Amino acid sequence: MYRVLIQLLITYLLLIAPVAVFADYMRVTLLGTGSPRPDVSRSGPAVLVEAGGKYLLFDAGRGVVDRLNQLDIPASEIHQVFLTHLHSDHISALDDLWMTGWIYQRQQPLAVYGPDGTESFTQQLQQAYAYDAELRHQYAGLDKNAAILTAHDIKPGVIYAENGVKVTAFLVDHKPVDPAYGYRIDFGERSVVISGDTTYSDNLIAHAQDVDLLIHEIFAAKEKILGKNPRLQKIERYHTNPTQLSRVLDEITPRMTILTHVILIGIEESSVITQLKDGYTGEIRMGEDLIRLDVGSEIKVAPFKETTHQ
Ligand SMILES: [Zn+2]
Ligand SMILES: [Zn+2]
Repeated sequence: MYRVLIQLLITYLLLIAPVAVFADYMRVTLLGTGSPRPDVSRSGPAVLVEAGGKYLLFDAGRGVVDRLNQLDIPASEIHQVFLTHLHSDHISALDDLWMTGWIYQRQQPLAVYGPDGTESFTQQLQQAYAYDAELRHQYAGLDKNAAILTAHDIKPGVIYAENGVKVTAFLVDHKPVDPAYGYRIDFGERSVVISGDTTYSDNLIAHAQDVDLLIHEIFAAKEKILGKNPRLQKIERYHTNPTQLSRVLDEITPRMTILTHVILIGIEESSVITQLKDGYTGEIRMGEDLIRLDVGSEIKVAPFKETTHQ
């Protein structure tokens, strides 16, 4: 009798409990919350999503491999990368992720999903690194078949579905960058939306209804500075300022919002957050590199320093 009970318990712990724990749970880490501007505290744009036993990486901005390393996640563990658009700040460390992952034992090609032009970009990267790939193959015996970038020029819609994780690409408004995508990730009842770079976008609002976690870009400049700087005004036009973001939050009402691709000019973080909190019932905070958000029935937030990452 006891033996049967123990066997049942073991079966539960091995098979059912993990499913119960992971069925409704996504871990999101902001690897980089910066923009093209060099900033050691804000790496280039990159978001890591863990769900269904998979790592999904969204954008590969400056410093992504170092940030992964801080989490003790080898670059070789990343097998899928989703690019929001082909601005250099979102792709400038794709080569590092790809080649470093290969040197440190990635056993399969790296799959890259992105807008039109992604295939061409990755083909040219492979040409540029062909010399090094050949050297390392000859000298260190690394498998050349694993040194491949498998690129997918995507269209809007579901572009990835595996282990219960679904990734949907939707168009955002970052003109003249066109197409530019945002992504929605669904896993069980949980959902995360990544805005990518965009100004106010009706299409984002349509795809982000009732989302648990909204990861949205922000651009805020002091009126005095903006008023006399035409170049800055052009940059603002394809990003989202606090007034526009307030509208977005009002129309989506995500459970939690975290800001990334942080561009603040002459404005304090706290005053942006105060402005955005006005009228918003969810929780909102400024993103920081390596902040972790566990999206389950609750959303638990853990800044890097206070966390012991396994
Ligand atoms: Zn950008
Ligand atoms: Zn951009």
